[in-house]
Amino acid sequence: MKKIFNSITVFAIAAFFLAACGSAPSKEDGGLNVLASTTFLADIAQNVAGDRAQVESLLPVGADPHTYQAAPSDVAKIAESNVLILNGVEYEHFIETLLENAGGERLVIEATIGLTPHKMEEHAAEAESAEGHDHEAGDPHMWLDPNLVIAYVENIRDGLSQADSEGAEIYKSNADAYIAQLKDLDNWIVEQVNTIPAERRLLVTNHEAMGYFAERYGFEVTGSVIPSFSSNAAPSAQEMASLIDEIKRLGAPAIFLDTADNNVLAQQIADETGVMIVDDLHLESLTEGAPAPTYIEMMKDNVSKIVEALK
Ligand SMILES: [Zn+2]
Repeated sequence: MKKIFNSITVFAIAAFFLAACGSAPSKEDGGLNVLASTTFLADIAQNVAGDRAQVESLLPVGADPHTYQAAPSDVAKIAESNVLILNGVEYEHFIETLLENAGGERLVIEATIGLTPHKMEEHAAEAESAEGHDHEAGDPHMWLDPNLVIAYVENIRDGLSQADSEGAEIYKSNADAYIAQLKDLDNWIVEQVNTIPAERRLLVTNHEAMGYFAERYGFEVTGSVIPSFSSNAAPSAQEMASLIDEIKRLGAPAIFLDTADNNVLAQQIADETGVMIVDDLHLESLTEGAPAPTYIEMMKDNVSKIVEALK
């Protein structure tokens, strides 16, 4: 156990990490058993795996990874996997204990390896460390920019090819096809955002989830109700007051919440500013069926709701 735990600290800087003894997963026991931490990652990975492997999600639909409490059955799911796909940038705060308890060997693919995370601004970082939260790794929400998801796909393709070299050609061709879809998605988002007047391209979110999206598509992030990269935090009265001032000063039209978010604080801000609340984005989980059963549909649904509120 000790050895496994020590190795886990290494995987944050390694593209691929073979737990314990370092041998590649064998296919003798029935092929690849691929587990992804959360629903949108499982969908992205399934597009790369194609018919060659079924990718399951550890977290159920609707779960917020930031506040997720691991269930006892999660240990068994991880124990059965021989490939585990994580977002990384400390998004999976619950994973170390699960890996430790599951034991065994598996290839861990960190989808964001090679990407450089945004860091928290100084004042907020101080507030977070004072509360004992650990977000030194930076902003994990890179999947909200489809261009960065291309890197996810490449990392997943390379990892699956390492775990199952006989499938490498298939993974490459599946990855190429999905990357083309991601480029189409990016073009579609640009077209949609172009219908919003430039001065109204302002985002107020529940927590700081949309920094990469804003950077790619030319939005300004006016602020967030919870000034943290995690929904698992709370604003001070002073932070609430300064957000209200910013919304009034810039005339931000709307606050955007994930469907899983508590809307009490956003409602207080709306009462003081008259800003509209859009409370049905899907930023951290797919949905069972419409409107966000896949990553691409999740992004289209979010963008449609943002455009509708701001244009
Ligand atoms: Zn988040």
